[in-house]
Amino acid sequence: MSDHTLVIGAGLSGLAAADKLQAAGKKVVVLESTERPGGRVVHLSHKGDMVEAGAQGFHSGSHGYAQTLGLIDRFGLTRDLVPQVNQQACYLNRQGEPVYPLGNMGLAKLLGVRGTADFAWFVAKYLVAMKKFSLYETHLDIPAYDNISTAEEFAWAGKAFTDYVLRPAAHAMVGTDLEHTNLYHFLNLMKLISTTKVATLRKGNSSLAEAIAASLDVRYETEVKKLLCEKGRVTGVQLADGSTLKADHVIVACPVGAAAKIMPDEFVAQREFLMAFPNIPMTLVYFFLDRPLDTKAFIYMGHAYRNMTFNMAINHTVKTPHLVPSGKGIISAWPSYPDAAALVNMSDAEVMTKALNEMDDFFPGIASMLDEVKVQRHHWGLGRLSPGQHAKILAFKKHAEQLQGVSFASNDYDGVHMESAVQSGLRAAERVLRG
Ligand SMILES: Cc1cc2nc3c(=O)[nH]c(=O)nc-3n(C[C@H](O)[C@H](O)[C@H](O)COP(=O)(O)OP(=O)(O)OC[C@H]3O[C@@H](n4cnc5c(N)ncnc54)[C@H](O)[C@@H]3O)c2cc1C
Repeated sequence: MSDHTLVIGAGLSGLAAADKLQAAGKKVVVLESTERPGGRVVHLSHKGDMVEAGAQGFHSGSHGYAQTLGLIDRFGLTRDLVPQVNQQACYLNRQGEPVYPLGNMGLAKLLGVRGTADFAWFVAKYLVAMKKFSLYETHLDIPAYDNISTAEEFAWAGKAFTDYVLRPAAHAMVGTDLEHTNLYHFLNLMKLISTTKVATLRKGNSSLAEAIAASLDVRYETEVKKLLCEKGRVTGVQLADGSTLKADHVIVACPVGAAAKIMPDEFVAQREFLMAFPNIPMTLVYFFLDRPLDTKAFIYMGHAYRNMTFNMAINHTVKTPHLVPSGKGIISAWPSYPDAAALVNMSDAEVMTKALNEMDDFFPGIASMLDEVKVQRHHWGLGRLSPGQHAKILAFKKHAEQLQGVSFASNDYDGVHMESAVQSGLRAAERVLRG
């Protein structure tokens, strides 16, 4: 047996784990199936402009991304953090007209008397008096938050609060609707957006992954097919080309869907859990326009009545102007689960046509302004934290602690944030260091 650790996946969880091990003097090799680091932190480029096509931003503040910001600092990128200045949102109202609520007064006008009262009650009951739990780690069993869908919990809310606050928040932050996410996850995200500020990196968020990876031994285009196991202990990996690599410890740092495929036959319970983990595939469509757009909001939310797959858009020219030197319009169209699932089986051409039609309500005449359209598919996307999922994750983590020679890292076990990915990687590395 060799004396080093193998890390499967050069996303932020794997890179954070490998970085910590290397800093502690351990030998570590990262195996990455694609040709680049970053995984779900990825950008698209077009004629000198750039756009975030995966993770959108780093959160700072008292509940912010402490470990990720620490990594950003360690790799000399703190000065590259660009705060998001524009906070303007646009909502389509029930009549399909754009409304731009400004500050608390603007929101109160949009919500009306009942909606504003609902909002105040929501803040007092759920955000101020919320049970305490980490925003970045699944570590506590809180059945009252886990065993109920957000839709059930907020059955008391009126239509205005549901349509203009709850549904858009679920779409934007959780990638799904109120029926398909548990209260635990929803409150986590509401706490995060109400207590933190967002920033992006000057050269794209993936520049963090690139900087960490450059300091490590990362083998690209090296896909792991299976974990090797002897007498219940993981002893290495088998690669897609049939060769094998031995190791003292293997950190599985890929999305849950990919982790399920490489489980050894001995790990029956782990494979079953990983295969049954619900997810939200993300098929995003990016429209690069041939001219600047006369728009002022960074995010566009359709009304719940609209019943369309792409009910949210991001205006990247306004959100991250430092990445768009041309100043031309760049719009991305975002679906949410369960509608998002149907896009997986559609061709790029079909997805583009659908998204273009549905974006016209937000940006009239957009079809006549196109320079280029690109589709970014995240086949796994995000883990879906549906009712009961937190308890299942806790049980999996408990069993995983008993396994020898292997640890698991990925944001999927702990939420949808880059900080969850980084923290899970650091925990996996600490386990290796403990021996
Ligand atoms: C559309 C979208 C928007 C998001 N927005 C935000 C946001 O605004 N803020 C935020 O904090 N987070 C956001 N996230 C979540 C964030 O991207 C993730 O939390 C984080 O990047 C996950 O890191 P990871 O290392 O756990 O997994 P990944 O980034 O998925 O990395 C896993 C790596 O493993 C590799 N791999 C998989 N299988 C194998 C194999 N068999 N062999 C070798 N390598 C393998 C993959 O190629 C990949 O590089 C978003 C995610 C998506 C999809």
